[in-house]
Amino acid sequence: MATGGGWAPARSVERHGAPRGGGTRSKSVAPGLRRPSPSPARSRAATDNGGSADSCRVRVAVRLRPNNSEDLAHGSDFDSCVELQPESKRLKLKKNNWSCESYKFDEVFSENASQKRVYEVVAKPVVESVLEGYNGTVMAYGQTGTGKTYTVGRLGKDDPSERGIMVRALEHILSSMSFETDRVAISYLQIHLQRSSRIKEEKSSLSNDMHDIFPDDLPLVLKSKLLIVDLAGSERIDKSGSEGHMIEEAKFINLSLTSLGKCINALAENSPHIPTRDSKLTRIFRDSFGGTARTSLVVTIGPSSRHYSETSSTIMFGQRAMKVVNTIKLKEEVDYKILYKKMEREVDQLTSEMERQQKLIKSEKMQLDKKLKESEGSFHDLRMTSNIRIENLEKEKCELESTVKTLMRDLEEERGQKNMLSEQIAELEKLLDENKQQQQLENLSRTKVLTDTTKEHEKKMEELLRQLQEERHCSSSLKDRMSILQQELCDAQSSTQLQESMARELEKKLTEVTEEFTCQVQSLKEKISELISEKEVIYKELKSTQEKVQQEMWQRQGLEDQILRLKQSTSDNFAEESKTSDCMVRTGSGLGNATFVSKSGKIREALSGQRGTISKIFEEVGLPNVLALLKSEDLDVQIHAVKVVANLAAEDINQEKIVEEGGLDALLSLLETSENTTIYRVTAGAVANLAMNGSNQGVIMNKGGARLLANVASKTEDPQTLRMVAGAIANLCGNEKLHLMLKQDGGIKALLGMVRSGHADVIPQIARGIANFAKCESRVISQGHRKGRSLLIEDGVLTWMVANSTRFSASTRRHIELAFCHLAQNEDNTCDIIASGGIKELLRISRESPRDDARNLAKKALDSNPAFLREVQ
Ligand code: ADP
Ligand code: MG
Repeated sequence: MATGGGWAPARSVERHGAPRGGGTRSKSVAPGLRRPSPSPARSRAATDNGGSADSCRVRVAVRLRPNNSEDLAHGSDFDSCVELQPESKRLKLKKNNWSCESYKFDEVFSENASQKRVYEVVAKPVVESVLEGYNGTVMAYGQTGTGKTYTVGRLGKDDPSERGIMVRALEHILSSMSFETDRVAISYLQIHLQRSSRIKEEKSSLSNDMHDIFPDDLPLVLKSKLLIVDLAGSERIDKSGSEGHMIEEAKFINLSLTSLGKCINALAENSPHIPTRDSKLTRIFRDSFGGTARTSLVVTIGPSSRHYSETSSTIMFGQRAMKVVNTIKLKEEVDYKILYKKMEREVDQLTSEMERQQKLIKSEKMQLDKKLKESEGSFHDLRMTSNIRIENLEKEKCELESTVKTLMRDLEEERGQKNMLSEQIAELEKLLDENKQQQQLENLSRTKVLTDTTKEHEKKMEELLRQLQEERHCSSSLKDRMSILQQELCDAQSSTQLQESMARELEKKLTEVTEEFTCQVQSLKEKISELISEKEVIYKELKSTQEKVQQEMWQRQGLEDQILRLKQSTSDNFAEESKTSDCMVRTGSGLGNATFVSKSGKIREALSGQRGTISKIFEEVGLPNVLALLKSEDLDVQIHAVKVVANLAAEDINQEKIVEEGGLDALLSLLETSENTTIYRVTAGAVANLAMNGSNQGVIMNKGGARLLANVASKTEDPQTLRMVAGAIANLCGNEKLHLMLKQDGGIKALLGMVRSGHADVIPQIARGIANFAKCESRVISQGHRKGRSLLIEDGVLTWMVANSTRFSASTRRHIELAFCHLAQNEDNTCDIIASGGIKELLRISRESPRDDARNLAKKALDSNPAFLREVQ
């Protein structure tokens, strides 16, 4: 990045701790120097290649101006007191011929160094860092005439090579930015740069919650600023040659430079306090030194030994600045507008995806329906055809059975006929035998006839036998056919069985398909409901993000307006501050009957004007926002916020509201935690004002207000703070219900303890408080609600009253006298009053007091108390 060797910023590997090396910075650096960035901006520690947080030392170069005509004119009297050793980056400063000191810098520019080289070594790394999103500062420091403006502000109109850092930096920035996505604004002194970026890996630095809320490519805006500063001359006033009006201005400038020097010293020495508030200049440089910016400093010197001391102090300034270490941080914010648009786009996409899925599911369902119908139809057809076939086969079987029956019957008849014929044959044979025997006997002649007849019969028999044979043949073929038919019947029966099992299988398959289809429909329905609920969640998220963005925008707007107004009113209020504090506490003109006392009509006018301004601010800004400022990290803002609250608390109408909105809690926590006297004073004043309201008094006590006020009283000697604290306690004394708690919390002790101040503003408040207490206590005791000696006695109030009643102003004396007379009304106090020598006081009051009520109370006590009467006698 840098051209000069060794100028490249030294980066520490530690993540958040103090940087290594000579420039460690203590943890207790003033809060202003390490303020957290405002929400919702996030500061991300800059990453180097390794991705670690950056500690970056302030880089310092020294530049030597060539001899000018003045130097040349004095040439012979004054030699050059400076010798440069650019190779070792060292500078030798010669005090005289015998002693010289050597100093090492980050870079050493001789009188011949070109403006280009100075830019590239000193400013270019800073500008590049600013373009990456870090704040940066380039600054020149040195005696008048040594070349600060030449280095930083030279325009180089005639000779471009002469252009200084400012022009070159602008050129660099404008050539590196995109006019569509980046914005640059320029003001005198500072250059306020913004770049759009979508860095995915940045997301890894977010918390898990943020990961869930924000999408992967979170739109981020980088907002960095470049400060290029040409300071005033660092020489003593007498050398600056300023006169008259100029000398006053020079003094201020010198003061600012001194403040800057003090801050640099403090940072270089790791001092716990950095006085950045001392001047506007150091406030501007808060981020440049010890802050989050990358900073380069050019210290310019002249060669002449006439200016030895200025040159030496300039060099020392540079040396100290080299020890300052900054922790550079990326200045980026989330771009919610882009984020919102992106999420809206995503919702649109999801919606269309869901619609597409629904359509797909519908068409799938229709297809499955169709398939189911088709399967049902084919199953029905199959059933019908198999039924018809079974019927046909049954019929065929019946026919075959009847045919077989007929054939059997025929066969049976044939058999009967055959048997008959056989019987006939046997009879005929028998007859033949008989005839034979007869004929043999009777007639051999007939033998021939008989033989013929026999032959005929044999022929007939042969015929019958042949017929029988045929019939038998026919019967066996019928039998074969029957067995074939029986076989066919068997086959038909088995095919019917097969078809039935097929039908059963088809039925089973159909059931499965139906079930599967039902499951698919079910899962698709679930998917739809899931998508709907997802959509609802995204809508909710989007809505809450929108609301959040809106709220943050309002909050931010409100706070910015508030700060602006507070700043405007600051200058007005500042002049009135002392007057205001006079009026913070009500002082009593009568006991408990409180009214505002203004020292003059003028103050009253000023006050009412100021009140007007404050109530206007209040109306516009709103109480919650004013109260929020009580917790501001900026002490100035905090002080002004307390002043506003104190003024508001002076109005009866606001007192309860402030407590309701948490204002009292904030004030009490300031009393507890703050170390600042102004905060104590104004906060105690505000609490005093709130304590004027009867219903607030109990709340203040319950929240430990008395204890906190007593604590403040013990810590400070500032009479105005003590006056506020005493006023607050005095107001609480006017509530008899709180007396015991007030005493237990040390309120009475603290009130009496503040007499050590002896201040004319404090004592009347103490006296008023005591009188309030005594009067209320006496009333409670006379009504019989309480018994026993006064709670004031134990803490020494009675003794103090007797000893000091005549020492103070008339009004204070009157309070003390009345308080004393009220104590004298309680018989349980008799012994203590006598022991403290109070009888004398009682007599004096009964005779001399200018007030009728005090005189009467004293007389009443003396007359009604026998112990007093005895003492008087
Ligand atoms: P400064 O701002 O510190 O008071 P300038 O920048 O006004 O000083 O410089 C005083 C004079 O010295 C100017 O005329 C300037 O041109 C001249 N000068 C300063 N530095 C150089 C340099 N490095 N080379 C040439 N001329 C220089
Ligand atoms: Mg100048």
